[in-house]
Amino acid sequence: MPATSASGQLLTSVADITRHRDFDALDHSLVLSLAQLTGASEVMLYRHDHLETDQPATVVRCAQDASGIFGIGVDHEEPSGEERATLQRCEHLQQTVVESQMPMARICTPLRQDAREFGVLCLRVTREHLGQARLLTEGFARIYANYMALLEDSERDKLTGLYNRRTFDRHLQRHLARQRNQEGLADAHTSWLVLLDIDHFKRINDTYGHVYGDEVILLLARTMRACFHAPDALFRFGGEEFVVLIENGTEQSVFEMLEVFRSRVAAMDFPQVGRVTVSLGFACIGTHDHPDIVLDRADKALYFAKNQGRNRTYAFESLVRQGELQPTSTGSIDLF
Ligand code: GH3
Ligand code: MG
Ligand code: MG
Repeated sequence: MPATSASGQLLTSVADITRHRDFDALDHSLVLSLAQLTGASEVMLYRHDHLETDQPATVVRCAQDASGIFGIGVDHEEPSGEERATLQRCEHLQQTVVESQMPMARICTPLRQDAREFGVLCLRVTREHLGQARLLTEGFARIYANYMALLEDSERDKLTGLYNRRTFDRHLQRHLARQRNQEGLADAHTSWLVLLDIDHFKRINDTYGHVYGDEVILLLARTMRACFHAPDALFRFGGEEFVVLIENGTEQSVFEMLEVFRSRVAAMDFPQVGRVTVSLGFACIGTHDHPDIVLDRADKALYFAKNQGRNRTYAFESLVRQGELQPTSTGSIDLF
């Protein structure tokens, strides 16, 4: 292939990969590009789902069938056997590992971000393609890691490091899809959306200034992390408003968990500011509910908590049962 055509293809691939704003689409684009550029019989991307949690890993594989068509598959099963051993060796050594599997070779390159390994990129190629494939694999691993870091940053709230509102819909949709997959199963889980708002926060800002206000937000986010153990389900929604997604629980167990959190916050001593309280409203996430409907229900319960004097927790469903709130429809709402 003439050099210009090869570089053109390379640039097209890089542009394709960095076009995406979504982790899954980015993964697909990476494995496909590498498979096309290197002629690998298989490209496998192994990535820990989120950098700071013990979520199952994501494994994306791209292989060519007999007629030359590329197929991509995704699963969350840890690789096993020889493949697993190679992955571990690569992560341990923190450098590219090449193994001969005559007539093929396997190249594994670690994926690193801020000096932390977050996965491995593996290719199976013929030995004649090894040199070129290794160069491309290492280069693409670096581009991918840099771009992942940018994507991660754009999803996070700068002050607290929690996910921002922009990413909430995507997280909730994924969450609902998981829930739909479980429908009908005996141990299907009920999920809940919690809205949490600092009480009289304006007063805190007005009395002590924004810097202390920010410190309160920061400490609260830290307490949320400590209490809810699910960093990928915590969001800073607005100034002093937060969302928590709870995957599995009954109304009563969620209520109790939130009450523990609420009391813990109420008992904390915030620097300079002293006591700070929060109000919470939560609602059940029905599998087919529109995100805005669930948010609206949790917001109604939160509003109720505020009206009752703040520093309280209410479930939308229980308020409906008690006749305090009207039920809302489950269908999609007309936004316009
Ligand atoms: P309520 O108990 O009803 O929730 O009263 P509140 O004062 O907390 O609610 P209100 O919505 O009236 O005020 C929220 C305040 O939050 C107003 C705004 O100045 C402040 N705020 C929003 N974002 C930030 C931020 O990032 N940092 C700081 N320090 N303050 C913020
Ligand atoms: Mg408030
Ligand atoms: Mg508010």
